[in-house]
Amino acid sequence: MDTTIMQKAINTIAKRSNDEELRVCPHCGTKYAWFNKSTNSINIHVQVPACDCQERIEKEKEAAKIAEAKKEKLAKIFENSMMTPLFQEKVFSSLKETEHFDLCKKYAAEFNPKTAEGILMIGNVGTGKTTLLAAICNELMNKGFNCLFTTLSALLDKFSKYSYDNAGDITPLLQWLVSFDFVVLDDIGRETYNDKRKEVAFRIIDSLLNYKTTTALTANPEMIKKLQVLPEWKATLDRLKDTCGIHLQFTGKSMRGEKW
Ligand SMILES: [Zn+2]
Repeated sequence: MDTTIMQKAINTIAKRSNDEELRVCPHCGTKYAWFNKSTNSINIHVQVPACDCQERIEKEKEAAKIAEAKKEKLAKIFENSMMTPLFQEKVFSSLKETEHFDLCKKYAAEFNPKTAEGILMIGNVGTGKTTLLAAICNELMNKGFNCLFTTLSALLDKFSKYSYDNAGDITPLLQWLVSFDFVVLDDIGRETYNDKRKEVAFRIIDSLLNYKTTTALTANPEMIKKLQVLPEWKATLDRLKDTCGIHLQFTGKSMRGEKW
């Protein structure tokens, strides 16, 4: 209905109403006429002029609910990531610009889980590999992407426990693993193997490759050498290397203990 016609109708009703009274909006202080006209069949309740406080408050409540849900989702993402609080502090804005800093920052900024390349980082301990991957994960998680940030060793422990609790069936956990948008396996080669763990490690890697889950790996050169001499590992390493489109060598000296 046209607003002027509506206003006229309201004024007419207001004049005729015996129940008209002046009220003040408790939120903005706007004075308005409030009346309540009842007949046998209808009950009219109009306020003139209407402020939008009620509507605004509803909208604010809705926005707060959405913000709360987003916060909860984010907390869940961080909780699921297995990332320790120490690494949750690693963000690009507070990091030193070490080797490959710009590339990693750009990678996080442009990340698309469908098209992103995997990353293989090779370098000695303390050259900043893990820190950069943590910074990538933190940025991605803040954007709502699901990331897993762990070592292959910790992941193998998780799988062993799961296998033990579920009569050897690790398929659901493999499905959980490949559902991440970005998986970081830090420090590969350091884990210890028996036949069972080796088999699980290959199933983990196979799943990541087959489901094209974007994966980032770090290793130090000695560990790569150690894995390469193991016959089954050589082929797997080659496959991993092929799926990681980005290869980064870290040649810098160790950053650890620099402050000392
Ligand atoms: Zn108001």
